[in-house]
Amino acid sequence: MNVSVKTVSVTEEATAILGRLGVAKSRYSEGDLVAFSPITGEQTGKLKAMSSAEATKLIDQAHEAFQTWRLVPAPKRGELVRLLGEELRAAKTDLGRLVSIEAGKIPSEGLGEVQEMIDICDFAVGLSRQLYGLTIATERPGHRMMETWHPLGVIGIISAFNFPVAVWAWNAALALVCGNSIVWKPSEKSLLTALASQAILERALKRYGEAPEGLSQVLIGNRAIGEVLVDHPKVPLVSATGSTRMGRDVGPRLAKRFARAILELGGNNGGIVCPSADLDMSLRAVAFGAMGTAGQRCTTLRRLFVHESIYDQLVPRLKNAYESVTVGDPLQSTALVGPLIDKIAFENMQKALVEAKAHGGTISGGQRVDVGHDLAFYVRPALVEMPKHEGPVLEETFAPILYVMRYSDFDAVIADHNAVGAGLSSSIFTLDMREAERFVAADGSDCGIANVNIGTSGAEIGGAFGGEKETGGGRESGSDAWRAYMRRTTNTINYSKSLPLAQGVSFDI
Ligand code: NAD
Repeated sequence: MNVSVKTVSVTEEATAILGRLGVAKSRYSEGDLVAFSPITGEQTGKLKAMSSAEATKLIDQAHEAFQTWRLVPAPKRGELVRLLGEELRAAKTDLGRLVSIEAGKIPSEGLGEVQEMIDICDFAVGLSRQLYGLTIATERPGHRMMETWHPLGVIGIISAFNFPVAVWAWNAALALVCGNSIVWKPSEKSLLTALASQAILERALKRYGEAPEGLSQVLIGNRAIGEVLVDHPKVPLVSATGSTRMGRDVGPRLAKRFARAILELGGNNGGIVCPSADLDMSLRAVAFGAMGTAGQRCTTLRRLFVHESIYDQLVPRLKNAYESVTVGDPLQSTALVGPLIDKIAFENMQKALVEAKAHGGTISGGQRVDVGHDLAFYVRPALVEMPKHEGPVLEETFAPILYVMRYSDFDAVIADHNAVGAGLSSSIFTLDMREAERFVAADGSDCGIANVNIGTSGAEIGGAFGGEKETGGGRESGSDAWRAYMRRTTNTINYSKSLPLAQGVSFDI
């Protein structure tokens, strides 16, 4: 069933939200960069792209702010992030709605993204009292060895359109408690949510009162402005989220000047449904993982391997779900699948489907759904039964295409599962303890996220998030990801009256 769209002005709604959050209309009423909503395709604002010189100046200001912020005790820095969490709670409805308007997410996902921001703030506040180093046994008498974690500097944050605000918050909350200043280059496809998030942080900064000017900056522009951030010598770490193509450019540029990188790049996530799987649960997990967010999550399920003994039980049910899922305006209906971000995304999807067909794929769905807006791109999610694991199956297409394949041998399916460039997220559905344990073992899934009886998407902030291989290797969010935002010093302190050298070396003068 398709849900038709009523003509409503998402622009008016976006303007009202930005007004409530304190973003001046002049910030988004003129310029060459067009803000738009994929829901109707209409323009929601116009922003002025910064020049390289303007961007450089803001980065320099953030560097100045860092000189002061690094000396503020960490628990006091945590107070700023606690206030940010409070402001986000107060703005949750508005910001969640704006995420839906700008990224096309269904309301619960728009709100969920803001909840993720709140969660990481809570996590970071606790962390502000736990930036622990070790005390290490030394071989020399009268000595003590320890490690200390210090703030790093200006942290560059580059984010993608599909998680327009949560990724910033993951980085911002940790970077700030770790004593760093932050400079954010949001996606050129999600500009208004960036202005809104910065306005919310500014409210927190105002209440905090004592933070240095310029602690948090936003660079408005396209890729060229991102490059200014990547190349700036006073930015020791850039956390960049986006396509593998972007990472291939950003990674070497950072390496060339010995800056650190957290790269969070594309995923081509796989799931395996084993003979013993709970099929009802698998069906729901696969449906959300593959069709949720219209297939535009880095963790979207894109490849599904189903054991031949249950294939004919599961796949027809899955096809039914694909045929019956509601596609439509996420703000005006209860549709579960909203729009693709733009025309390019739609064209890339169609191209992949043509290639899949050429490789013997049988396609259900994939057609454009007419909602009465020429500039909005809604599609019926596509389920493609593939005879082999090859062709477009091996690449991420950022759209709702699920490739489904039969398997018979467990070792062979693990090998196929791992035989793609990306290594972000993965799942196995099984009640067989040996299969489950093997999947999460060293010779199982090669991804940064390996789940059992739960889908590939929808991570919580408590775990470290990221993936291997062409996904870039970065980790952010929970666990000990904070360490990437600090520098470690090893300190040896001699409180004796002699100077013994390590390894028995003698050097008597
Ligand atoms: P994109 O690569 O087109 O753009 C991402 C950001 O990088 C944008 O802000 C863009 O302006 C900037 N950028 C692009 N080239 C750059 C360069 N050379 N130097 C500096 N900045 C540059 O990605 P997108 O279309 O916005 O997002 C979709 C992609 O992001 C998908 O591949 C998806 O899997 C990936 N993604 C990954 C994660 C993750 O955590 N692994 C999360 C979300 C999205």
